Amino acid sequence: MTVRPAHEATFEYRVPIVIVGAGSCGLTAALAANDAGADVLVLERDENPTGSTSLSAGLIPAAGTRFQREKGIDDSVDLFEADLNAKAKGQSDPVIVRTVAEASGPTIDWLADDHAVELHLVDSFYYPGHSRLRMHGPLRQTGSELEQSLLSAAERAGIDLITGASVEDLFATEDGTIVGVSFRRPDGELERVGCDALVLACNGFGGNRQMVSQFIPEMADAEYYGHASNTGDAVDWGKALGAQLADMGSYQGHGSVAYPHGLPLTWAVMTQGGFQVNLTGERFANEMKGYSEHAQEVIRQPDHLAWNIYDERCEKPALAFHDYKEICSLGAVKRASSVDELAAVTGLPVDALKRSMEQVEAYADGTAIDPFGRDFTQQPPLSPPYLAAKVNGALFHTQGGLAINSATRVLRTDGAPLPNLFAAGGAARGLSGPSSWGYMSGNGLLSATVLGRLAGIAAARLVTAATPQQQDDKGKIA
Ligand SMILES: Cc1cc2nc3c(=O)[nH]c(=O)nc-3n(C[C@H](O)[C@H](O)[C@H](O)COP(=O)(O)OP(=O)(O)OC[C@H]3O[C@@H](n4cnc5c(N)ncnc54)[C@H](O)[C@@H]3O)c2cc1C
Repeated sequence: MTVRPAHEATFEYRVPIVIVGAGSCGLTAALAANDAGADVLVLERDENPTGSTSLSAGLIPAAGTRFQREKGIDDSVDLFEADLNAKAKGQSDPVIVRTVAEASGPTIDWLADDHAVELHLVDSFYYPGHSRLRMHGPLRQTGSELEQSLLSAAERAGIDLITGASVEDLFATEDGTIVGVSFRRPDGELERVGCDALVLACNGFGGNRQMVSQFIPEMADAEYYGHASNTGDAVDWGKALGAQLADMGSYQGHGSVAYPHGLPLTWAVMTQGGFQVNLTGERFANEMKGYSEHAQEVIRQPDHLAWNIYDERCEKPALAFHDYKEICSLGAVKRASSVDELAAVTGLPVDALKRSMEQVEAYADGTAIDPFGRDFTQQPPLSPPYLAAKVNGALFHTQGGLAINSATRVLRTDGAPLPNLFAAGGAARGLSGPSSWGYMSGNGLLSATVLGRLAGIAAARLVTAATPQQQDDKGKIA
């Protein structure tokens, strides 16, 4: 994965825009560029495009959507921006945060109304950090539905997609203008295609152990549950082009992955009043800080494991998630009518478990204060039957990457934009500050879809040489 001088390549053919990666970011970018009147070619390494997008719950936060209005939810760009900044302690790029908050609502409406991507508003619970109900997702709340809907939309739009096309080298002139790329086919053949603009939508470096150890040492030994093909190629190309890397220590972890089944068990069970204990039956952290930073808390526990403890009331919103139903059908969720029985089915020490349950009950009643700082009083205490599931902490995806401007143009180390290189989604710097604590639920697909759309619009604008004034609010060129 490197960048070669432009004169080394002859191209079999040329397209105006090449997009690397067919996850939610690449497909959204392709739809937006195509809507804006530019021809695009999407190159995807896998034979069957899935990406981390398919592994996700498919939930995208957005403010000011028609789905929110239909349910009378009073949200705004300002509120969303404030929530994002509060979670990341104001340490994300403020321009990108504002840009994404502003473009989020129109992006959801555009996907649903212009491209028939089936979405609904999740209104059964709040995710930590979001002050309004603003998670939009496919009906079964799986990322594979989102990915399939986007692939269908791309097919309907007549967008060219080559699968089994692993992009290897970029070709660039001395000033950093990309003139084309080479990609390897499954039979080993190398092909070259020329382009006028390149969009990097090939996610981050979670699938590259060496980069994870270098940039996120605390997760070097954590299991990676993201897509294996995301090997940090955008980082390598960016470095070779003199691009700025930003927030490389930022990532989405998850403190609740059903063990050993490897499926994310929704944090909804925590937000409804559930809690975690380690294998000695003790609580160990404030579960409401966020599921991302909680990954490390779980990894620090004996055997790197914890048990989620909750009840049927807490389970209700989880039942809307396909993954949760799968976890139940695999027998990972234990049920018990008493604490003694719960200790028996989990193997947790009964005295410690009883003590933890009594303590949490006292926090919920308001007769004691949680030393970890969680406010349990907003939910009723747990009641039998009790539920429990064994979980571990994992790395889901990286949030650091290429620094971009508000038009998703990749920036050099001196802050100037490269001439025709765009990056979005996991390939670009995200919205989560420099570490794990800044990740707010949905930040991954938020930057993939919203910045993906902006990248498509901006690349189309570049190759069609249209001015911003010639574009309407959906990015279509008049
Ligand atoms: C288990 C799990 C649950 C998650 N849940 C959520 C959630 O509910 N909400 C949320 O916002 N985020 C969630 N995320 C994060 C979210 O999935 C990602 O942030 C998002 O999918 C990134 O989209 P993307 O298009 O940038 O990357 P991907 O969907 O990973 O797509 C990138 C594509 O690029 C391809 N590629 C890579 N390198 C090359 C190359 N050199 N040549 C050609 N192709 C290449 C890959 O094969 C891949 O298909 C979750 C992640 C995981 C793993």
